[in-house]
Amino acid sequence: MRFDIITVLPDLLDSPFAHSILLRAQKKGIAEIFVHNLRDYAANKQKSVDDYPYGGGSGMVMSIEPFAKCIAELKSEREYDEIIFMSPDGKTFNQTIANELSGKKNIMILCGHYKGIDQRIRDLFVTREISIGDYVLSGGELPAAVIVDAIIRLIPGVLNDETSALSDSFQGDLLDAPVYTRPADWNGHKVPDVLLSGHEAKINEWRHEQALIRTQDRRPDLLND
Ligand code: SAH
Repeated sequence: MRFDIITVLPDLLDSPFAHSILLRAQKKGIAEIFVHNLRDYAANKQKSVDDYPYGGGSGMVMSIEPFAKCIAELKSEREYDEIIFMSPDGKTFNQTIANELSGKKNIMILCGHYKGIDQRIRDLFVTREISIGDYVLSGGELPAAVIVDAIIRLIPGVLNDETSALSDSFQGDLLDAPVYTRPADWNGHKVPDVLLSGHEAKINEWRHEQALIRTQDRRPDLLND
């Protein structure tokens, strides 16, 4: 699976993809992530990619030209299943959308800044608009990193133990069960006996029960759905 991320701050995306599971996915050749500097597509000498908003008001607006050029260049090389714009007014990202996108081949992601991007970019090129929550960040880079992480870990072969993604919160209707590791007794705080029993069926039953209790307690809305 291939991601092309268009941004004015490519450096901001160096670290999120250079560690752990995301790094492993790239080393295994399962995922490729390309970050494109929007300024490389600016026509003017100053390499500016934004301008004053028509109608006045505060904040700069990202111009259509550099985005159009970059998108056209990428599209001339391959077909994209989705061109996603990260935006607080988009559809709120969740595990269902992550699952759906993990089945795609080529995804382009546009990161906004300042007041946002010229509406015509959204109208003409974007196939999907995604928000990572009801709050406003300064740019689309961190949201892009969030969705790319959530998507990549779902691609078969990325996680070593594939079943571990299946038992994660939101993968079904339930949150994940509590987890413990050694020591079995820490200053008198003990791990539940059943987890030390070696009895797989009982352990699974306990985990399901705990997941249910946790979901009822924290996210009853998931059960009602
Ligand atoms: N004026 C816009 C916010 C611009 S914030 C509005 O009120 O809707 C600048 C950029 O940061 C956005 O264009 C978007 O790309 C990104 N961004 C900010 N918050 C985000 C969120 N919750 N989810 C996804 N992207 C976000």
